[in-house]
Amino acid sequence: MEQELTYHNIAIIGCGAAGGLVSILLSKNPELNVTAFDIKEPFSTLLPTGGGRCNLTYDEDDVREFVKNYPRGEKFLMSVFSKFGQRKTRELFKDLGVKTYVQPDKRVFPITDSSSKTILTLKRHLETSNFNFKQEKVIDVLKKENDFIIKTDKSEYKFDAVVITTGGRGNGCNLAKNLGHNIIDIKPSLTALDIKEKGLYSLSGMSFKNVEAQFKVGKKKQTCIGDFLFTHKSISGPCVFKVSAQTAYEYFNEQHPLEIIFKFTDYSVEQIEEEIKKNSKKTLKNVFSKFAPESFVLTVLKMSNIEPDKQAAQLKKTEKEALLQTLTAFKLHATNRIKDSEIVTAGGVDLNEVNSKTMESKLVNGLFFAGEVLNVDAYTGGFNLQNAWSTAYVVSTNFN
Ligand SMILES: Cc1cc2nc3c(=O)[nH]c(=O)nc-3n(C[C@H](O)[C@H](O)[C@H](O)COP(=O)(O)OP(=O)(O)OC[C@H]3O[C@@H](n4cnc5c(N)ncnc54)[C@H](O)[C@@H]3O)c2cc1C
Repeated sequence: MEQELTYHNIAIIGCGAAGGLVSILLSKNPELNVTAFDIKEPFSTLLPTGGGRCNLTYDEDDVREFVKNYPRGEKFLMSVFSKFGQRKTRELFKDLGVKTYVQPDKRVFPITDSSSKTILTLKRHLETSNFNFKQEKVIDVLKKENDFIIKTDKSEYKFDAVVITTGGRGNGCNLAKNLGHNIIDIKPSLTALDIKEKGLYSLSGMSFKNVEAQFKVGKKKQTCIGDFLFTHKSISGPCVFKVSAQTAYEYFNEQHPLEIIFKFTDYSVEQIEEEIKKNSKKTLKNVFSKFAPESFVLTVLKMSNIEPDKQAAQLKKTEKEALLQTLTAFKLHATNRIKDSEIVTAGGVDLNEVNSKTMESKLVNGLFFAGEVLNVDAYTGGFNLQNAWSTAYVVSTNFN
């Protein structure tokens, strides 16, 4: 679709990460009249991100590697990130007054380590005469010839172009649907999981680095690696979030749980057997504590009805096999996603109906999308915000 540069009066629905950045970039052009609608203050959705530190993006220049972190949107984002990836985003943020630094795990944060300071800095760029902010909820958007009519809970407005940036939980998908777009079912993603093995919740607070998880999506075997955490009512952490993202469209419950095999130790079966042989006079508790935290070992021994002070030499063959299995391939059974624990949503506006070079709708001229309202979601690490920044930037290139 050939873009005609005839838009002057532009509405942005949602002023979170993506909508806020579109607002800043467009209002730099004095020839445009920019209005953003949101129920909340601009950029306020950034406040809880990165545990209050705002994990803005991830330091990886290879776009092919970067997009592997998106269970939905991988192909679509190739062209978006090739145009405006993490490095250009950090340069833009520096120009906007938000300098960043890279952690050893490659996650990128503002040097202030503060979401609230980042919000204040970004909001200052919205203090321009051609930017209007309306704290109103958009209820409907209609296209009448070349105009868009926006209906809010307070009034009605007319615009030349509309950018929908309502995130994963807003009603942007309904607005897009009413304008003719196909919506991929919205599902929670990046959630903690409830498991059948409730006895393990006594390990609440215990975490493991770089745990490998194996599970099936349909008939396909999948593997994820990341840090793992036991809480008092769930399993959680980046490894579990990845599993939840991969299985966002899988159905599991108490009767039909999702089997996940976790590898809680770096040691192989052979290495563990060797240690048992070498330390046959020591107690099991002592021998196994080399391979995993002691309280984890004690819980596992208790679950297997094995006395922790038993000598390694007295371990029966079946007991040994069960313990080796538990340490190197621990089967847990997820029964539920923890309600309202999702960090993002899978699903949204069908990417087949959006031009990845412009972010314009292929169905409605003058209608654009950015951020999580699209059928895009990613693992933790700064990837979800990068989707918001990059798609927002691409939207802005249509108007400047
Ligand atoms: C607790 C938490 C921590 C997170 N941490 C990180 C992190 O560290 N790094 C990372 O990359 N991602 C993180 N994310 C995900 C990230 O915040 C989102 O992916 C990102 O904010 C999406 O940007 P967006 O602009 O699409 O939507 P949002 O930022 O959610 O903004 C949407 C805006 O639209 C408004 N809106 C919705 N409907 C309407 C309507 N009808 N009318 C008017 N306004 C409307 C909403 O009020 C909201 O302000 C986190 C998410 C959560 C919940």
